[in-house]
Amino acid sequence: MDYQTLLDEIAQDIVPYFGLGKVANYIPALAKINPQQFAISIATLDGQQYSTGQADTRFSIQSLSKVFMLSLVLGRLGDNLWTRVGKEPSGNPFNSLIQLENENGIPRNPFINAGALVVTDLANSLYGEAKAVLLDFLRQESGADDLAFDLEVAQSEQQHGDRNAALAHFMKSYGNMVNPVERTLDSYFHSCSITMSCAELARAGLYLANHGLSPVSGQQRLSRSQAKQVNAIMLTCGTYDAAGEFAYRVGLPCKSGVGGGILAVIPGKLSMAVWSPALDSQGNSLIGLEALDRFTTRTGLSIF
Ligand code: GLU
Repeated sequence: MDYQTLLDEIAQDIVPYFGLGKVANYIPALAKINPQQFAISIATLDGQQYSTGQADTRFSIQSLSKVFMLSLVLGRLGDNLWTRVGKEPSGNPFNSLIQLENENGIPRNPFINAGALVVTDLANSLYGEAKAVLLDFLRQESGADDLAFDLEVAQSEQQHGDRNAALAHFMKSYGNMVNPVERTLDSYFHSCSITMSCAELARAGLYLANHGLSPVSGQQRLSRSQAKQVNAIMLTCGTYDAAGEFAYRVGLPCKSGVGGGILAVIPGKLSMAVWSPALDSQGNSLIGLEALDRFTTRTGLSIF
């Protein structure tokens, strides 16, 4: 497979889509970003990496952090995790409060904000300082020792984080938040603020393509079964309310973030990251979806 040629072709194909969609503006520090940016990077299990566009430009990983925080917690707790959070698609917006009341403060899945807050709360209980452990995990898995939080973004989220604070307090009222809410929010906002490039993210996702064993760090991050489980939750819950559309068009486990990044996994083969900041009406990178659709369509590589 000539991945490099294919990626370069896709980079041409997506040019007409620049100008469509909108960058996330509900976190003011993210609203300033230039939407006319694009990158894809692929890291294969046999140690190759192929990239096109601005694959070394770092951007705010936002909800992509949820995949890695979930891995840290699931790897330690196993199925005990599922008493605190569900694993079904939500059918509601990522920051919705409604479902929590109907289901006694148990969020539908770990990739909506409420679920990620519960996972972060658990990570703080298990590891002491979840945000530092997550940053260390990502440094090891990307091979980039200088990964860091973007403190301006973290602070901007904190200042405009009333919805997330409401979710956390509401779950606390049901007993589903153990540590102080302020601490959980601080860990969550910092985790979302980490900046990484597509090249770094593609490498960091390789353990998910390799049954939990990272070819980068050599560490068994998840059991074989847990790696399968995280991929399954990415497929069913990883792309906001468009998981059906993504399964239909892309056919891979994917997780997107409002910074415009999408991480996608082809189990047994490769991990890839795509980034373009403008989002579609469901909050996924508009060009990211176009690019992933072309990639799996032209290679025939999808889980279907
Ligand atoms: N930090 C963002 C929030 O909580 C994450 C949003 C996202 O990427 O889905 O609103």
